[in-house]
Amino acid sequence: MTNTALVTGANKGIGKEIARQLAEAGLTVLIGSRDAERGKRAAEEIGGDSRLLVLDVTDENSIAAAAAQVDTLDVLVNNAGILVDEAKPTEADVAGFRRTYETNVFGVLAVTNAFLPALRRSAHPRIVNVSSGTGSLTWSLGGRFATGGSGAAYRSSKTALNALTVFYAQALADEGFKVNALAPGLRRTDLNARAAASDGDPAEAAAGAVRLALLPDDGPTGEFVSWDGTPAPW
Ligand code: NDP
Repeated sequence: MTNTALVTGANKGIGKEIARQLAEAGLTVLIGSRDAERGKRAAEEIGGDSRLLVLDVTDENSIAAAAAQVDTLDVLVNNAGILVDEAKPTEADVAGFRRTYETNVFGVLAVTNAFLPALRRSAHPRIVNVSSGTGSLTWSLGGRFATGGSGAAYRSSKTALNALTVFYAQALADEGFKVNALAPGLRRTDLNARAAASDGDPAEAAAGAVRLALLPDDGPTGEFVSWDGTPAPW
């Protein structure tokens, strides 16, 4: 039986690599893209059994229309994300937080709930939330990033996403779901405006997501995992 996966924000960056690797693994992959042309191009480049699914994670009509096209879904990768506000909380305005949370938090909530009926038709449902190590409070408190509190909107949105991951895992534990969050590591993508040559290849991060997407039934749920499979602290 061929499994079906949906990757949100799969027209470029880490999401496109996740989609490519899932297609290579033999899954039918729905390329979530808010722009039909760019999504179609990505699906053509990815090949395999990949196809466009127009999906803007901040638009409830778009989400409903996309969900109506999918009967059974085995893997949902909540990858779409934005980094639009680098401010410290002392200099931030609510608008930047709101915009960030619309995509990175509320988008995940809305998409996940819209696709729950399709996921419940799967024998082995898996949800992978593409989070960020910068959302780890343990790492922040340990001084790992030393940014003086900048990027508060983005980072706290990923902290919230981590919390959602735990609560979804708990809510769906009795139904055989595996719900986990990924820390993909620093990657060269459009989102990472300060990407340096030394930053990692998105493909490496994607492999970590694919591992969580294809977890066996005795695999973990409600965990935060780095791209290389090691545990990430909350
Ligand atoms: P990119 O900017 O390359 O890709 C982001 C993707 O999300 C694009 O396909 C974009 O679509 C899509 N997207 C944004 N908003 C929406 C929306 N409203 N509806 C649908 N799709 C949307 O970034 P990355 O590949 O780097 O980011 C992917 C994920 O990885 C994000 O969640 C990010 O937070 C996370 N991450 C990235 C890191 C890095 O170093 N790059 C580090 C840690 C986490 P469009 O092309 O239309 O804008």
